[in-house]
Amino acid sequence: MLTETTRARALADLPPVISDSLLALIAMANADPRPDKIDVGVGVFRDAVGNTPILKVMKQAEQRLFDTQVTKAYLGSAGDKRFAELLRPILLGPHAGDERIAGLQTPGGCGALRLGFELIRTANPNARVLMGTPTWPNHAPIIRSVGLEIVEYPYYDRDGHVIHFDAMLQSLGAAREGDVALLHGVCHNPTGADLDAAQWAEVTRVIAERGLLPFVDIAYQGFGRGLDEDAAGLRGILAASDEVIAAQSCDKSFSVYRDRVGSLFVKTGSVEATTKAMAHVFQRSREMWSMPPDHGAAAVHIILDDPKLKADWHIELDAMRTRINSVRQRIAAADPRLAYIGQQFGMFSMLPFSKDQVIALRERHAIYMADSGRFNVVGMADHSIDRFVEAVVETLDG
Ligand code: PLP
Repeated sequence: MLTETTRARALADLPPVISDSLLALIAMANADPRPDKIDVGVGVFRDAVGNTPILKVMKQAEQRLFDTQVTKAYLGSAGDKRFAELLRPILLGPHAGDERIAGLQTPGGCGALRLGFELIRTANPNARVLMGTPTWPNHAPIIRSVGLEIVEYPYYDRDGHVIHFDAMLQSLGAAREGDVALLHGVCHNPTGADLDAAQWAEVTRVIAERGLLPFVDIAYQGFGRGLDEDAAGLRGILAASDEVIAAQSCDKSFSVYRDRVGSLFVKTGSVEATTKAMAHVFQRSREMWSMPPDHGAAAVHIILDDPKLKADWHIELDAMRTRINSVRQRIAAADPRLAYIGQQFGMFSMLPFSKDQVIALRERHAIYMADSGRFNVVGMADHSIDRFVEAVVETLDG
């Protein structure tokens, strides 16, 4: 048994953790007293005046939940089953009725990713995960935390603003049967560079031919071109491959970031195999979080189950997408060197800046972005766009 002193020393001996640089950046931006500071490092949608409001439709659903919920008894590992059912047509489209696809509620997209990789590790600990770089900084830690090996390939040329599509295809083509192809469903984070329809078709074909397991991370459905358009890549994959995993998040599309609302969908070649796979999924989720938090998913359930609220959600989602794309067009129009930003999707794009240039933007202009040059196009209010663009163009001019 450990004594008090050995216990204290064991914890005190822990190695230091390299802190998440994005969190440090947010703290730095918050501490900056300059009133005109611009925080484009943050990863949430902001409206024209710079707020991340609660959707009107969400307030109504929460009120209804408050008025009608009669118990907070346990729901079970699957969480809110109706929530997952209501997401099916939105995410899966024509595949919604495919009984070989099963889903469950998870704590956000992160929970879905972790659970999906847990399932893969349980099925095949030797599977390697093909991961394009750059990618969302939490992908690699989640994959490593379950003990799977990562094989990186270059996805995006930040300075040339193009996808390294040949390298991507080559890496997928050279993978071993059973390896995992991790794909961003839409609104690639951090680059904004999405595959076009022809590229999706090629990737889908190579994945099916090589017998890879596609794992689609779709956290921004509705922020790109529209709900159906943004799920087209995933749906094409579902049509071509018998085994598919999708990690979905409602946190952005319903603006419920801190409520942790997401889902995991698993497709196998038969209903029986899916049932078996889901039993493993439930077991893994039981070990990790027992059951997902209810509140946010219960509110999303209310919205999606009510035609009027659902229509209102579409309107508010459309408004978020319209703002993202109109800010993109404004930045793109300012200088030909920024034109690519108008052709990309979602909240993030990258500027071809060195770390020193990023620091200079922070110190001279109170503009906060990630060291990688990633910035949130809707991190700033409308009245800050001109000042942001001027500082960016000045930096590009050198
Ligand atoms: N996947 C990507 C690409 C993301 O950008 C994010 C969030 O930033 C997530 C997954 C996780 O989303 P959630 O906040 O729902 O866990």
